[in-house]
Amino acid sequence: MLMTKERRPAIRTLRGWAISVLQDAGAICECEEHGWMQERADPHARERALEIARQEPPSGLSSEQAVTELRDVLESIGDTCPDCPPEDL
Ligand SMILES: [Zn+2]
Repeated sequence: MLMTKERRPAIRTLRGWAISVLQDAGAICECEEHGWMQERADPHARERALEIARQEPPSGLSSEQAVTELRDVLESIGDTCPDCPPEDL
């Protein structure tokens, strides 16, 4: 079964905006099993996301505020899924 690419729903929260930017840039990814966001520890992807935030801040935000928001969200995301078993078994 093919998934059609749906249009992204309207972004309602700043956190939602930040997460979508981070995901687009590949700085974070979602655990396929549990849906938790994980940071991918990729400095280039992170830079890309910050660049997007600077270039295209959400309406009502300055570039600086957008970057700050993005950083806040990034810091709140861990690099592992809390529900996945640890890899070093
Ligand atoms: Zn998981």
